[in-house]
Amino acid sequence: MSVIYNRVALIGLGLIASSMYWAMKRAGVAAEVSGYARSEQTRDTARRIGLCDQVCDSAIEAVKDADLVVLCVPVGAMGRIAEEISPHLKPGCTVSDVGSVKKSVIEAIEPHLPQGVHFVPAHPMAGTEHSGPESGFDTLFDNRWCLIVPNGADEGATQQLEAYWQALGANCERMEVGHHDQVCAVVSHIPHLIAYTMVGVADDLRRVSEREVIKFSAAGFRDFTRIAASDPTMWRDVFLTNKDATLEILGRFTEELFALQRSIRTGDGDQLFDYFTRTREIRRGIIEAGQDTEAPDFGRGVPQS
Ligand code: NAP
Repeated sequence: MSVIYNRVALIGLGLIASSMYWAMKRAGVAAEVSGYARSEQTRDTARRIGLCDQVCDSAIEAVKDADLVVLCVPVGAMGRIAEEISPHLKPGCTVSDVGSVKKSVIEAIEPHLPQGVHFVPAHPMAGTEHSGPESGFDTLFDNRWCLIVPNGADEGATQQLEAYWQALGANCERMEVGHHDQVCAVVSHIPHLIAYTMVGVADDLRRVSEREVIKFSAAGFRDFTRIAASDPTMWRDVFLTNKDATLEILGRFTEELFALQRSIRTGDGDQLFDYFTRTREIRRGIIEAGQDTEAPDFGRGVPQS
């Protein structure tokens, strides 16, 4: 594989950035990678495990001479970082991000970027419930989607970023901003909210029958707890910044739930059977599309993004 960007800067060194670094090393797409994280502890860990060719003590130092700068921090922190680094960006470089929400991230970053710098937002649809610099691995993006949201960006810069993500193992698809946020609300954000809620309900019940909830915890509930272990800062920011789309999908979800509730109360077995048959087909479609190679269980089909 040939070099796509001579120098890449990763701002934020958690699960996504560390996976990007190991995948870049595997693919050989960057000659040099610099990295920055806000806490000294994370920077020390990165140095200890060899994460990044150069770990910098400031974001400004990390972006110096970089051809690609990727913001890998929670979505609520992107605007402040963009403001800090923008006077120090190399003319003609590309700035991108990996945020799970796109409209608010674009609104937060774009106003700060100088003329001549290309901004190509992106969102790799891959993750785990783990976080931090030691949680990354080089195959995280293999055969996963990376959604590219050019939003009017330069075509050459967009194609270069797509080639980069493909080299990291992902399949790229371009998407319009609002559509991205709605799709992610359906396939990722609301499923996470439901998992958080279900585990919260069980925690309430635990006070009634503590032993049973833990002892008989079945696969479905265990998968909920895995998803509900995802990083609180990241998910707080996702819901605060994708408010409109998540509230809209939550409204639809509640209507469906009430319809199922009515079917149970009235004993409408046909309605329940038809509904579950339709959802089973969706599951089969996901497996046929190669997006879940594991044995069927609930949680692994939910993209962590
Ligand atoms: P992570 O493992 O928790 O790492 C977050 C990084 O951001 C850490 O280096 C942290 O620094 C830094 N950070 C946190 N708050 C900050 C702040 N206020 N200002 C500056 N830096 C801050 O997170 P991640 O899972 O890699 O997620 C990073 C981004 O990827 C998020 O925007 C998320 O929406 C997106 N994403 C996540 C997933 C997923 O499943 N995890 C999937 C796709 C996209 P310290 O370590 O020094 O605290």
